[in-house]
Amino acid sequence: MYFNDRYNSLPPRLYDRQTPKPLHGAKAGHFNAALADGLNWSEDDKAQWVEICSGQKIFAEFEPLAMVYAGHQFGQWAGQLGDGRGLLIAQILDKHNNTIDLHLKGAGKTRYSRSGDGRAVLRSTIREYLAGHALNALGVASSNSVGFTSSAQGVQRETLEPGAMMLRTSDCHIRLGHFEWINQFQPDLLPEFTQKCIEWHYPECLDAEQPILSFATKVIQRTAVMISKWQLVGFAHGVMNTDNLNITGSTLDFGPYGFMERFRPNWINNHSDHSGRYTYQNQPSIGHWNLWTWLNTLISLCPNDYNKEQWKQDLAVCLEHYEPTFLEYYKLGLNQKMGLPSFHKDSFDCAMAFLRILQSEQLDYTQSFIRLQNKDYEVIKDDCLDRRAFESFLSQYENIREFQDVEALDADMAKANPQYILRNHMAQKAIELAERDDFSEVERLFNLLSNPFSKQPELERKEDLAPLPSDVPEVMVSCSS
Ligand code: AMP
Ligand code: MG
Repeated sequence: MYFNDRYNSLPPRLYDRQTPKPLHGAKAGHFNAALADGLNWSEDDKAQWVEICSGQKIFAEFEPLAMVYAGHQFGQWAGQLGDGRGLLIAQILDKHNNTIDLHLKGAGKTRYSRSGDGRAVLRSTIREYLAGHALNALGVASSNSVGFTSSAQGVQRETLEPGAMMLRTSDCHIRLGHFEWINQFQPDLLPEFTQKCIEWHYPECLDAEQPILSFATKVIQRTAVMISKWQLVGFAHGVMNTDNLNITGSTLDFGPYGFMERFRPNWINNHSDHSGRYTYQNQPSIGHWNLWTWLNTLISLCPNDYNKEQWKQDLAVCLEHYEPTFLEYYKLGLNQKMGLPSFHKDSFDCAMAFLRILQSEQLDYTQSFIRLQNKDYEVIKDDCLDRRAFESFLSQYENIREFQDVEALDADMAKANPQYILRNHMAQKAIELAERDDFSEVERLFNLLSNPFSKQPELERKEDLAPLPSDVPEVMVSCSS
């Protein structure tokens, strides 16, 4: 590994140095060897992955630390938070010379644990491990994980569950909530911290006339792109608190997430989200709300030669990029999923008509697009109670595609429509087996989700392709992890 120890160069008020506290009886869960290769892990490093992913081996080149941050949780100011159960154990260079954080989740109590035990359970670890892998393979910017370990040591939640640790990778663990913490508790650090964020993550902004405004615009645009991609693959993050969104627009901290099955825009996957704040359909507007909250922390960075009111207005203008960026990517992506040309004036309306059918007929989002792609129109129609609505959609759809280069459109469709997503019941099956020390289903799902756009008959099971029947209770997912 090649280390690039840069977070440690920030003022120590921003973190607390702390070593991991291993769990008893650590055992191998799963290892992502391809990711380790991409991160320049040596053969020796790879041979020691269980020790590294269980906190037993730390690196001489990096002093592990817990970051402090704050945040708005479910719309309310939550005050100081921070890494309560995760440690930054290294920053290393990948094959493209990008700096990647290695963050060990479940590594024990830290100064920021509040009433928590500093641990993670196997259940949520497997969910995060597989989802990070799935999102990356789907082309959605996201954290990922080199590997996870299980343990003989139990961790108390509603019941006693096996404890686990996961070595998470991300291009950035700096959250919107970092700025909120600094702004509230140590405002004198804000200029230096912001400058470092720009140097590390948006160096192209250094040359702009106003680097901070340029940085803010980029963060806003990248967040909008990320959320447009969530919407397109049907991903509901579940806890879009400001401490769970980072400044590079890569998906982070998605405990109670879900990939939507039947198309229900107001679907709440997270049973701890009583008001439905983080439903699938709310994600774009919550992203906007979070960024607006974040922009407020930049007000005090008004340059000396700038009028303060003008500065506030200019920050607000940065946020005006959010909606058009989101819509541009969402519309392009949706038209691609539909196999419709983006330049055609009726394409987006036609896509919306298809989504309305999925919603009113409660059809599976992922499989319905695959059926459309396979031209299995009769199969979709047979699942519809309102067959006329589908026929009228289909005639508009075929009209738009007539005289187009359908071969090219179909090829684009195949790149945009996954055959497989991680359904809650798929993850649940893998968890139940893993809790009995059988990681074969984690392995199967890992392989299946490595190539989500390719049909893999030798790996797939019937359950991967459909929601559970409506009379079977849904898998319950909550913030407990
Ligand atoms: P999350 O909802 O998982 O993003 O966590 C919100 C905050 O609670 C973060 O500061 C976490 O570090 C902290 N936290 C969550 N679970 C635990 C735990 N078991 N022990 C200590 N801190 C925790
Ligand atoms: Mg979090």
